[in-house]
Amino acid sequence: MSALSLARLRADGQAFTEEISRESYLAHSGHKAAANFTPIYEKYRDILGPEALAFTVQLFQDSPPETDERRSARYLLEWQLESQASRMLASIDETESALESSAYVETSDGRRVQYQLASIEIANEKDRKERLALDRARAEFVIREHSPLRLERLQREKEFIESLHIAPSYNLAFEEITGISLSKLAEDCRGFLADTQSMWDDTLAPFLKRSLGIKPREATRADALALLRASHVDSSFPGPALQQSVRTQLTEMNLDPDAGGRIIYDVGDRPGKRSRAFCAPTRVPEEVYLVLRPHGGQSDYTTLLHESGHALHFANARPDYPFEFRWLGDNSVTESYAMLFDHRMQDRGWLLRYTELGKNTIAEFLRLAGFEELHFLRRYCAKLVYEVEAYGGVADWKALPDLYVDTLTRATTFQYHTADAFIDFDPRYYSARYLRAWQLQSLLNESLVTQFDDDWFRNPSAGPWMIRELFAEAQRETAEEIAARVGKSGDHLSFAPLIRNIERLLES
Ligand SMILES: [Zn+2]
Repeated sequence: MSALSLARLRADGQAFTEEISRESYLAHSGHKAAANFTPIYEKYRDILGPEALAFTVQLFQDSPPETDERRSARYLLEWQLESQASRMLASIDETESALESSAYVETSDGRRVQYQLASIEIANEKDRKERLALDRARAEFVIREHSPLRLERLQREKEFIESLHIAPSYNLAFEEITGISLSKLAEDCRGFLADTQSMWDDTLAPFLKRSLGIKPREATRADALALLRASHVDSSFPGPALQQSVRTQLTEMNLDPDAGGRIIYDVGDRPGKRSRAFCAPTRVPEEVYLVLRPHGGQSDYTTLLHESGHALHFANARPDYPFEFRWLGDNSVTESYAMLFDHRMQDRGWLLRYTELGKNTIAEFLRLAGFEELHFLRRYCAKLVYEVEAYGGVADWKALPDLYVDTLTRATTFQYHTADAFIDFDPRYYSARYLRAWQLQSLLNESLVTQFDDDWFRNPSAGPWMIRELFAEAQRETAEEIAARVGKSGDHLSFAPLIRNIERLLES
């Protein structure tokens, strides 16, 4: 092979990332039966081996702190570690991908449901006995087939990172490489859980009673899915109007929903297509797929808004930036743009303008949105706390299912299932990226309101500002840097604006 250089790492790294992304797009959208990553890893083995890793570690160590060189080396190192771990784990990922697209779960009375649609069916099931039976069947399947794969993946990835001796532990290595303080974030999460405990207790019982007719101590995670489904408002979110409503809104704020043809919408239904929507940038910024499998109702709106934020971000990235700034970096940034859009589902003005919710139904809808937001944040805070303890080796792997149930049930009141301890686990702290994104989007929203008023989402000056100040920069900056640049002076990431927002919604 030719000698490694930064230029080669960038060129081959980009080509490799494009091929992986295209393969996942094809497999997860149902165009191909299963993903076949192994030949791609084989083709690019020169930039995914020990030599490339040593080269990148050196690059990171030699770069002066607080320079663009350091920034660039940091993102490349993080990508090297993730890609090398993924290469090692490719066969597990392929097995998992095939399992998810082809498996069925069966209840004791013979009801058969596609595995990847199980949680949607659970959420839609009005009969509680049926709902719990379906969830039992799902959990049995998870324990038998899915969880062992995920556990093996988590263990091997952790061993791989630890074997590199970047820092004395997995968690410290993560902090060293990403610059994110897990201990600080976990501390903030514990604070959020404590600060919102009484608000949660006061809110949950009446919602549960009214929607499902049950008490908090009987409620399970399956009930949580049904409760949050809130199907009685679905008629206000008509399926046929879905795409047009979002397109109209984006156009009003002077954003091209197709980004000049660079965003391609894949909304058709086909077997093997993932039930969860996703955005697949296969070339940044030139070719970005937004994949959606509509199921009807408000969740389609939330999903389309979320994925639109990702797609607009990648499709408007500066083409002259190097690979690592366009493709890599802090994923809290892209998640915050996605959340900035999906949070319009909590925005009175947006809802009144682009959906069929009327003045009579909006207040109740907003209160429910406040409840959901509080629930999801408490759930994610608990996940982060659990994952930090799990990765930190506080408990043995065997003891983790109990720790998971304990932590998540305490935070959400809903009874969790030990079966989910390893499948409801974001590898490499993606939950930390989400939590920081949540914090950043609330700051961005406040900044947009200050500059472009409450209805910034239809202000024709807001779109171009967003492209120029946010999307074009791709992921060159971290979430903290964007907060400092775009927010009011002295702004930093915290849960405070999120709590203010929840209080406002609950008082609607
Ligand atoms: Zn996302």
